[in-house]
Amino acid sequence: MNHTKSSQLFAEAKKYIPGGVNSPVRAFKSVGCDPVFITHASGSQVYDSDGNSYIDYVQSWGPMILGHAHPKVIEAICKTAAEGTSFGAPTHLETQLAQMVCEAYPNIEKIRMVSSGTEATMSAIRLARGYTGRDKIIKFDGCYHGHADSLLVKAGSGAATFGVPTSPGVPADFAKHTLTANYNDLDEVKQMVAANKDQIAGIILEPVAGNMGCVAPRAGFLEGLRELCTQEGILLIIDEVMTGFRLAYGGAQERLGVRGDLVCLGKIIGGGMPVGAFGGKQEVMDQLSPGGGIYQAGTLSGNPLAMSAGIATLTLLKEEGFYEQIEEKSAYLEKGLRDAASRTAHKTCLQRVGGMFCTYFQEGPVSNFADAARSDVETFGRFFRAMLDKGIYLAPSQFEAGFMSIAHTRENLDRTIEAAQEAFSSL
Ligand SMILES: *Cc1c(COP(=O)(O)O)cnc(C)c1O
Repeated sequence: MNHTKSSQLFAEAKKYIPGGVNSPVRAFKSVGCDPVFITHASGSQVYDSDGNSYIDYVQSWGPMILGHAHPKVIEAICKTAAEGTSFGAPTHLETQLAQMVCEAYPNIEKIRMVSSGTEATMSAIRLARGYTGRDKIIKFDGCYHGHADSLLVKAGSGAATFGVPTSPGVPADFAKHTLTANYNDLDEVKQMVAANKDQIAGIILEPVAGNMGCVAPRAGFLEGLRELCTQEGILLIIDEVMTGFRLAYGGAQERLGVRGDLVCLGKIIGGGMPVGAFGGKQEVMDQLSPGGGIYQAGTLSGNPLAMSAGIATLTLLKEEGFYEQIEEKSAYLEKGLRDAASRTAHKTCLQRVGGMFCTYFQEGPVSNFADAARSDVETFGRFFRAMLDKGIYLAPSQFEAGFMSIAHTRENLDRTIEAAQEAFSSL
């Protein structure tokens, strides 16, 4: 497959943009080749500047669960755009999307829209601190919650991909308020809470971790955190930026039956436009300005184009049988990939929850970041390049999840499995 034009465009981009990209993992650095430059996309397919097409399992890192450029979403965006793209004043679209999210999540009584997942988690942390009057938070090694200072500590994929556990520029004085525990280790969290009695404002986590591949919570882990938080007056912050409206219409919390005090959303609720949101109990949310004293704001928050895309997307997700179809397609692909992987002498371990999956190049099982880090990233890189060459676009990192969309056809999945058989045999 020829990538000449993409490589030229990348060289040009590097002159003006740090590393040639506006978000690090896009650079393909950890898989040993140049990124492909996308010109357009439709359904399950993306097309690059050299005229190649790919079956896409990145799906803009999760938002495109309907597939790319869904006609109903595009129509909603265009119709709204013709009437003006931003007013900095309230619109009814914001209330409509807020109402839809509140109906999907019984524990979200009020919600505020922002423009990215990073903003959502950053604001949720501030709110938890302001509400409890405590400074410390607990996060889990390998969970990514965006790149705000307090959360850029042991933060999974982006950082893991580049081997930088945390980032220069985050003052030690900030990071010291962030305690990190191992995912799936409830006892460790209990000890941490006991050692910091009445000092923990919130515990934040991905309910299914998708930024260290795909790691499900062990039975009792989320339930145990819920109980601990209730006992200790700590806010449980469930970061559903990736899992929200993906693992079920009501996200991981509906699927797993555990409810947070605060919930962060993003990705799918924006239907491919820049959106994030955080919500929860009315009593906590009402502490936000202007009703309360905890400040949070955004010039483009609740942007009408983004709200329209979100409303159109959620409306389609509500259709009967949507998530059953995602599950069925994902299970079919999982089986095919497992069979394909048995053709290589390399050890692999496929983990999947709903339409999120990851093939680790190691024996597994992977239940936390230390496990994930044992993967053979060099062999993954070769597998990634072989798949790309066969027209299959996977996430360019061992530590990212793959995503299924409703637009993936049986033929797409069969082609993917066939490509994987060849790629695995060639390793
Ligand atoms: C993507 C992601 C974020 C950050 O969202 P951005 O829109 O990239 O800022 C936060 N939390 C989780 C779980 C994510 O997957």
